[in-house]
Amino acid sequence: MHMFHPGMAPPKGTKLDRTVVRRAWTFGAPFRRHIYGYLFLVAITSALGVLPALVFRRLIDNAIPNKDLASVTRLSFAAVSLALLSALIGVVIRYFSSIVGEGVIAELRKALYDHIQRLPIAFFTRTQTGALMSRVNNDVVGAQSAYTFILRTVVADVLVVVFTLLAMLQLSWRITIVSLLAVPFLIWLSRSVGEKAQKAAREAMTKNAAMNTVMTERFNVSGALLVKLFGRPTEESTQFGVAADEVAAIGVRRAMTGIAMMIALPMVAALGSALAYFWGARAVINGSMKLGTVVALATLVQRLYGPLTELASARVEFVTAFVSFERVFEVLDAPVPIAESLVARAIPALVGGARVEARGVGFRYPTGVEVSVASLESGPSAMSSDPNAWVLNDVNFVAEPGTMTALVGPSGAGKTTLSQLVARLYDVTTGSMLIDGVDVREATFDSLRATVGVVTQDAHLFHDTIGNNLRYASPNATSEDLIEAAKAAQIHEMLASLPDGYDTMVGERGYRLSGGEKQRVALARVLLKNPRLVVLDEATAHLDSETEAQIQLALETALLGRTSIVIAHRLSTIQAADQILVIDDGRIVERGRHEDLVAQGGLYAELYETQFLRGVAVG
Ligand code: ADP
Repeated sequence: MHMFHPGMAPPKGTKLDRTVVRRAWTFGAPFRRHIYGYLFLVAITSALGVLPALVFRRLIDNAIPNKDLASVTRLSFAAVSLALLSALIGVVIRYFSSIVGEGVIAELRKALYDHIQRLPIAFFTRTQTGALMSRVNNDVVGAQSAYTFILRTVVADVLVVVFTLLAMLQLSWRITIVSLLAVPFLIWLSRSVGEKAQKAAREAMTKNAAMNTVMTERFNVSGALLVKLFGRPTEESTQFGVAADEVAAIGVRRAMTGIAMMIALPMVAALGSALAYFWGARAVINGSMKLGTVVALATLVQRLYGPLTELASARVEFVTAFVSFERVFEVLDAPVPIAESLVARAIPALVGGARVEARGVGFRYPTGVEVSVASLESGPSAMSSDPNAWVLNDVNFVAEPGTMTALVGPSGAGKTTLSQLVARLYDVTTGSMLIDGVDVREATFDSLRATVGVVTQDAHLFHDTIGNNLRYASPNATSEDLIEAAKAAQIHEMLASLPDGYDTMVGERGYRLSGGEKQRVALARVLLKNPRLVVLDEATAHLDSETEAQIQLALETALLGRTSIVIAHRLSTIQAADQILVIDDGRIVERGRHEDLVAQGGLYAELYETQFLRGVAVG
């Protein structure tokens, strides 16, 4: 079984945490009836499996010596019927176990997806997407194997062993014991091979992961571009070749580890039968036993070895499967620090722009311990609980309804951070952020999302049609609504001129919109929500004068009657702003209107000279 994953510690000891087991059971609970049905049928087939040997015993001991042809026919027919019945039950068993296995996978995935969606943006900035995907894809499969493993191996094997042993003891307890002499050897062998196989399996997972990392990093546009621009395809192929060869080598080793069992199992089974025949034959010769009984015993003993071997290494495999459960639960237990308050109230749906107020806002980014999951972080130091540095200090401002506030300052000053606090993507560390007098931490999510529309600098569009991307904001919007919003964002003409118009596919693998076009689509998307407050990070993409004019017009029409907070990169924006907040090193160092600030001759005047007049966009 391949239940190991890269970076996963081998199970230490064989202890199982009861709470983990109990919690794991809740994911199988919806399939309780299938599980009981499965167990019932497995019990029946395990019992049925003993019968053929007993049928043959009857045949040899009674029917043949008595030359009873009718009985021979009956017994042959019974043997065939038993085989058929077992096969039919096997189909139903398979059906039930698939329903349980696949069902548990789906339940775990749904729970993970639901929870991951609620995690704060801070979680996503810290987590490697690949590692998270692997949790949802691989660990979930590893975890359900605990279910199928218990059902298949533990329960079925135990039942087969019990029924077979009972039948054998019934026939002859002496021969039963003799034919089991080789069992301890088999258990010892399967344990030691099992451990080796697991070590090899773990190594294989790590090597596979290494090979996959090389591929996922190179097989995307940015990675492929880098390889080409630096002319390194030969070195890349060599590096990949090494990784691929290592995977091959470990594969061979795994195959050879299993071979010891493959040889030993039939040997031991043959030895068991031979012992049964040896003692049985002597008993037959001296008349204390019948031939059919010996044949039945020798047949039955063969059924024991497979299940016994599996049971011998069951515990290690079982604990390993539970490690996957633990890894899934770890993500399910990731904290949700930004949740709706239990006493949340709605931001009133007034007409016109919203009023924003920052009161003594201080902020530092949360640490990994507060928002993340240790095993999804890149290194142990990432989970340090040392607080991060203060990014914002004592920020106070009011944005009156319907006004435009421009945030200006050097790169890294804290503009983006401040804009994220308004939309509650992060919670303030000290102070408070209020919209229409309601602290955003006490606002209902619905009213907050309805009131605040955010357009980020690098607007994301899903791989879908433009129309569906727009409707993401408002699923019930009509085509007229879409066109109206697109017109307000000055993007309708461009969209209408595309070959498929609003049905054009965009996003990562779709039609390539320019940075400015993408942002205007994003603006139209936000407008469909008709938010009373727009938080916008202007695109820094190089703009020619025509698009510059279009963007200007777009902002003027789109932001009319709304409050806006804009991270400004363009001259016309700062000139039009009702107030400019100049941010430096997390503090508001100057504030006022453009002309006044220029006249002051401070940091703003300097930024104006170096950035806005020369048209150099800065982040
Ligand atoms: P600006 O938008 O003015 O360029 P930012 O708000 O992006 O500035 O960044 C302000 C500071 O916060 C920077 O020093 C940056 O390194 C830091 N910072 C930004 N994002 C994070 C994060 N997710 N975790 C920790 N620090 C961050």
